[in-house]
Amino acid sequence: MSATDLRGPSEFNGALDSIGKAGALLRLGGHRLEDFLSADSIIVSPGIPLDIEPLVQARSRGIEIIGELEWAWRQVSLPVIAVTGTNGKTTTTALIGEMLKQAGRHPFVGGNIGTPLSRWILSGDHADVLVLELSSFQLDTASTFRPDVGVLLNITEDHLDRYSSFEAYADSKLSLFGRQTSGDFAVINANDPVCARRAGEIPGKLLSFGGAGSAANATCDGRAVRLMVPGKTGIEISLEKTRLHGAHNRENIMAACLAAMCMEIDARAMQAAVDTFAGFPHRVEWVRNWEGIDFYDDSKATNVGAVVKALEGFDRPVLLLLGGRDKLGAYEPLLAPLAARGKGAFAFGEAGPRIYDHLRGTLPAGLYPDLPAAFREAVRRAAPGDVVLLSPACASFDQYRSYAHRGDHFKELVAELRDF
Ligand code: ADP
Repeated sequence: MSATDLRGPSEFNGALDSIGKAGALLRLGGHRLEDFLSADSIIVSPGIPLDIEPLVQARSRGIEIIGELEWAWRQVSLPVIAVTGTNGKTTTTALIGEMLKQAGRHPFVGGNIGTPLSRWILSGDHADVLVLELSSFQLDTASTFRPDVGVLLNITEDHLDRYSSFEAYADSKLSLFGRQTSGDFAVINANDPVCARRAGEIPGKLLSFGGAGSAANATCDGRAVRLMVPGKTGIEISLEKTRLHGAHNRENIMAACLAAMCMEIDARAMQAAVDTFAGFPHRVEWVRNWEGIDFYDDSKATNVGAVVKALEGFDRPVLLLLGGRDKLGAYEPLLAPLAARGKGAFAFGEAGPRIYDHLRGTLPAGLYPDLPAAFREAVRRAAPGDVVLLSPACASFDQYRSYAHRGDHFKELVAELRDF
């Protein structure tokens, strides 16, 4: 067994000890082709491009290349609910976990959030069901993974810096269902154009969520979610107490309820979870009202689809702060919601110039080197009743360690605003 990384030993803190103890040969500071070509199986970390030369050569010689999820999945035999989609994965995965807990089950909730499945397996902890958030990168290296319940929330442009085309990215997301059989469940979004167009390819039992009055299995009129699944008693879940706001969160709740229903979770447990689940920070999170202006942190919006949903959630003028590391998708989907409620767009960071080019001319837009500069200008132009929204549509890594680091910086800027 050997482990290899482009980084040198000084860039690891402590992690090398456990690898050394496992008896693995360590090859740091670069890859050696011989290590790859002499392996029976290669396990790649999420985020490692699959087209690096040693992997391409290994693949051409028939050497198995799998990811951490696939390795871990082969070690367990528990029912699996897996959630993917461009946006809403973390919220929906956690909400499903809460529903299971409310029903007295012992789920492991993790994957792409929190604890990776492999680490949980090594911990020896107990669970009776796995609820996994999965990224497309994890699905790309999962050759036999087959969830009992797969949930696909939506597919909008993202990661075009990693995929050759939007269809290639969509293929990756849909591969969640690829190995399901007729006894498995596939929960999809009836309003998502890609899900709707490609539903025919899905081999499992299809359950869909959609708008009020649609023929979907889960519908929502804003006040309650209604579940109608053949062979099961209809269920109504009230949204009166939920702290998850916006149309996108209603979709997440509908998806979570359908997934829970597939696991025979009762309405009482679903309702208790919907009533008590608080959601997560940096997702259209209200920060402060200052001088009549409301500030929202949506730093987790790292693609255009999430920003569209955030904008659609407001019925007041919005001053939008956006930018960061460009994922090379189109910014056009922002034009309609910005025309409806945008009062200004303030672009910053690496992607700033491209965003500015797309948006200027349609509404007041400005280009700024960084978030503080964009923030100052947005505040200067905001009036009482307006919303200042950080919803960047980009990754954070050009100027921040993570989306959370960026969101926290925004919150600091908001906290520093002084009353006159
Ligand atoms: P993910 O884990 O897929 O990144 P999160 O729940 O962390 O999803 O939310 C990420 C961003 O997407 C946030 O900006 C959030 O407001 C937005 N969002 C959440 N659910 C949805 C949805 N169903 N459709 C579109 N955007 C969503």
